[in-house]
Amino acid sequence: MIKVCKFGGTSMADAKAMLQAKSIIESDSSRRYVVVSAPGKRNKGDIKITDMLYRCYNEVVETGTCAKSFAIIKERFIQIVKDLGLTFDIESILNETEKQIDEEKSADFSASRGEYLSARVFAELLGAKFVDSADMVRFDSRGNLNQEYTDDKVKTCLENVDFAVIPGFYGKGSNGKIKTFSRGGSDISGSIVARGVKADLYENWTDVSGFLVCDPRIVPEAKVIKSLTYKELRELSYMGASVLHSESIFPVMKSRIPINIKNTFKPDDAGTMIVPTEKYEDDTNNSIITGIAGKKDFTVIYIEKSLMNSEVGFIRKVLSVVEHHGLCIEHVPSGIDTLSLVLESEQLKDGILNDLVNEIRENVNPDYVHVIENVSLIATVGHGMTRRSGTAAKLFSALAKEGINIKMIDQGSSELNIIIGVNNSDYENCIRTIYNAFN
Ligand code: ADP
Ligand code: ASP
Ligand code: MG
Repeated sequence: MIKVCKFGGTSMADAKAMLQAKSIIESDSSRRYVVVSAPGKRNKGDIKITDMLYRCYNEVVETGTCAKSFAIIKERFIQIVKDLGLTFDIESILNETEKQIDEEKSADFSASRGEYLSARVFAELLGAKFVDSADMVRFDSRGNLNQEYTDDKVKTCLENVDFAVIPGFYGKGSNGKIKTFSRGGSDISGSIVARGVKADLYENWTDVSGFLVCDPRIVPEAKVIKSLTYKELRELSYMGASVLHSESIFPVMKSRIPINIKNTFKPDDAGTMIVPTEKYEDDTNNSIITGIAGKKDFTVIYIEKSLMNSEVGFIRKVLSVVEHHGLCIEHVPSGIDTLSLVLESEQLKDGILNDLVNEIRENVNPDYVHVIENVSLIATVGHGMTRRSGTAAKLFSALAKEGINIKMIDQGSSELNIIIGVNNSDYENCIRTIYNAFN
């Protein structure tokens, strides 16, 4: 039995948390490969090491050296090592790192050092081998993970290592330079290692007792989901459930390695199991919906034109305007004579929205175009919806009773997801209302 354990930022935040993680690892000899994040927040007002490292990069760009910002990072690591009672020379490593950040002048390199330093310290604490992800994780020239190359390297680098600590979040780009995943990417690193060593289980240790039905910051009493499928996880994490990075399922999915989300600070809680679809359907899982997640700040461009459906190439012409601007579309709900484009508002700043609407008007000559801004998207996800009728009716009548105005509906073709758009100001209330309707 091999388990890969990934410990997140709160589990690495200080010496006390690191010792807690150590006791978890030592309680089970199959926990052989440990992937770590950079130290995160110790309390609400605290700053993550990764955020400080992005500051270091900005300081280098502005002044030529990161000395001022890096001093705080140094102090924090020296304190951790001291509190752990370790005698190894972290100061030399820190000084060397500071020099490299100044020389490299790269945001990715700078940000990656949080995981690097965290792994160096944790390997020392565990008496495990430090194995650098720079030697294993590789991106291609487009910045995507080179899975084949990476699999091979993970295998060869870890094959003869019984017990290792590996930094999360980064690898090397095709130019040989350090490159990071997007924020929260250590979850992906853990998944990559799990696949590479053919683990039986990928344990993701964090600060909540599993994947909750919805964000606990909105519904504090939200229940833990006992098990969910890879597909449900993908939908929920993509739609904003930030407990796991939305891309972290891909490496393990093909190898069908389950993920167990666990709480470092309540290790006896069962947590959430994430499994392939068939396994889940064997379970006696009775819930209609599995989870609810959402994101704020979208813009909907609503287009109406009579006989749109019989106009050859209509949708292509609309989409090519969007493509021409290099924008990503989130959803494209459509009706007989209507089409909506849902995009992140962030992409439409500085007059881009105006240009887009004008070009759509010129290209397809619609009867009517209407823009709705400040929209939140909320996804209600669950395989159970396909087995029971009336889920949508229940959801919509609960929202109507609460007086929440629905701006857009998209029942995805995946059949496990109903996405609605509401005003940003209704976001929290909408999630709470859906939660209450089904729990
Ligand atoms: P880590 O540093 O361990 O990777 P994260 O902060 O990335 O931890 O993720 C855990 C946090 O995700 C929780 O503390 C919680 O606030 C937030 N969160 C958002 N949605 C959910 C959800 N549906 N279930 C559990 N946690 C959630
Ligand atoms: N430390 C990185 C971040 O804060 C990666 C991670 O923790 O997963 O985004
Ligand atoms: Mg995370």
